[in-house]
Amino acid sequence: MRTAIFPGSFDPFTIGHADIVRRALTLFDHITIGIGINAEKRPVFDVEERLQSIAAAFGDEPRVSVKTYTGLTVDFAREEQAEFILRGVRCVADFEYERNMAEANKQLGGIETILLYTRPEYAHISSTLVRDLYQHGRDISQYIAR
Ligand code: ADP
Repeated sequence: MRTAIFPGSFDPFTIGHADIVRRALTLFDHITIGIGINAEKRPVFDVEERLQSIAAAFGDEPRVSVKTYTGLTVDFAREEQAEFILRGVRCVADFEYERNMAEANKQLGGIETILLYTRPEYAHISSTLVRDLYQHGRDISQYIAR
């Protein structure tokens, strides 16, 4: 059985995130979406809202589950007995960041990271953009996975 975690802040969980999970289901038997809780970051969307939107998108998919975690991603992966970390790459800036994280996680936990390229229609969608729109009173429903 091939298992992966898909870790992130998901503040909020967007249609870009959902697309990565859906496409990765062709590679993995099970994916646990891990909402990383960072005590130093004040999220705009509370954990309940994030869990709800992930449940709306994947509630009827038994091969996807969702959990929250604190601490290091490699420790969460070990708890979940996951063999892989799944991440998405939108642009060159993401690539540099992901390469460093993948190397660190390989050294720390002996775990491989699998990267999927974002489809072009989702490449401009970031949680940061959606948060900005939300905080300026715009309708964000088209960006939120459901
Ligand atoms: P983090 O705070 O750990 O960077 P994010 O919640 O921003 O987490 O993103 C989680 C993962 O989803 C990252 O690998 C990121 O590159 C990827 N991602 C973010 N936005 C998109 C998108 N629009 N399409 C595909 N992947 C995305």
